[in-house]
Amino acid sequence: EVYLNLNVRGMGHSATLAINEHSRRLLAQGRRVYRLGLGQSPFPVPEHVRDSLARNAHQKDYLPVMGLQALREAVVAWVKRTEGLDYAADNVLVGPGTKELMFLMQLVYYGDLVIPSPSWVSYAPQARIIGRHIHWLRTRPEAGLGVEPDALEELCARDPNRPRLLILNSPGNPTGHCYDAAQLQALTAVLRKYRVLVLSDEIYSGTHYTNQHVSLARYYPEGTIISNGLSKWCGAGGWRLGFLVFPEGLSWLAKAMAAVASETFTSTAAPIQYAAVTALEERPEMRDYLAHSRRVLGALSSHARRTLTAAGATVNRAAGGFYLFPHFERHRPRLEARGIVDGAALCQTLLEDTGVAVLPGQCFGRPPGELSMRLAIVDFDGAGALEAAVGEAVDD
Ligand code: PLP
Repeated sequence: EVYLNLNVRGMGHSATLAINEHSRRLLAQGRRVYRLGLGQSPFPVPEHVRDSLARNAHQKDYLPVMGLQALREAVVAWVKRTEGLDYAADNVLVGPGTKELMFLMQLVYYGDLVIPSPSWVSYAPQARIIGRHIHWLRTRPEAGLGVEPDALEELCARDPNRPRLLILNSPGNPTGHCYDAAQLQALTAVLRKYRVLVLSDEIYSGTHYTNQHVSLARYYPEGTIISNGLSKWCGAGGWRLGFLVFPEGLSWLAKAMAAVASETFTSTAAPIQYAAVTALEERPEMRDYLAHSRRVLGALSSHARRTLTAAGATVNRAAGGFYLFPHFERHRPRLEARGIVDGAALCQTLLEDTGVAVLPGQCFGRPPGELSMRLAIVDFDGAGALEAAVGEAVDD
């Protein structure tokens, strides 16, 4: 242990994986577990995309570090179709999942990391591994737990010239919050003033069930890097394919990342890249698949929100993605009397008593002691159990 890099000393597994392992232990004991802790698409990969992968199983060559040319062109055409924005295929970087690409970006970009509280579990640990400063942006439940211009201004004004990388995630994990055009425009004014670099994490873009997804790149093109991939809206998390789209003015960053990629992961699995070209094509099958996914997710989200609210939770309204982020602050005295003093204790009790696996708000950067949690709405048979479990934890 003395030989461990100081930045990784004491680091556990990603919190989502830890709860999954705990759930597996209970399952091995014959217990029923409702796994609402992990964020995985409940939908199969679309058939025409699976067929494409099968057809390309023979592709065995190392592909270019930046990605297959046909895929980078497909990404550019897809961004043009979905956002109306023009990019050069040369400024697209393909990688084995956006998680890896984000890590690479934090590695090569010399600046502080700015992330909202709450935000996805891996942003902060990646910054810690590299030794970057992390600034948490406060958010308010009344604003859907999204970043507001005032909070951003307050942070940037403290040290106006400091280089910063903001990760903005919409639709959001863990909140389901989606930024609309007006919110993005208001944020842009601050971002532009302080020249903040933004990684726009849009991995859930196709799951926006109340409206059409809008990218920050429409308003702040010069400072926004679009991050997307097959993991969520295409149901292919385990395939490991993500991509970043850079504006021309930031191509130096793409090149630096590609140089590091060439010395580390080399390139992304060839058959997956060919299948990704198919996934990004404009096809009626994909339109139907996405429309169906959105319908199901919207219905699940409303059902879970109604159920949680009836059981005493306070839940923000979600507009996309696979999650809700309820809190139980109203029930603090009653829960504290049972020894439940923070999100971890709340989730532990839920898992042990009822088999419902969710993640404490602290995994997402919420303040210590807050009685919040993230639950995935996508375990189709879990909703009834959740209703019972949450009611039990709060009522007795
Ligand atoms: N960003 C968010 C908000 C996520 O929830 C996830 C996956 O859970 C990722 C990024 C990583 O996705 P990928 O599978 O592309 O690495």
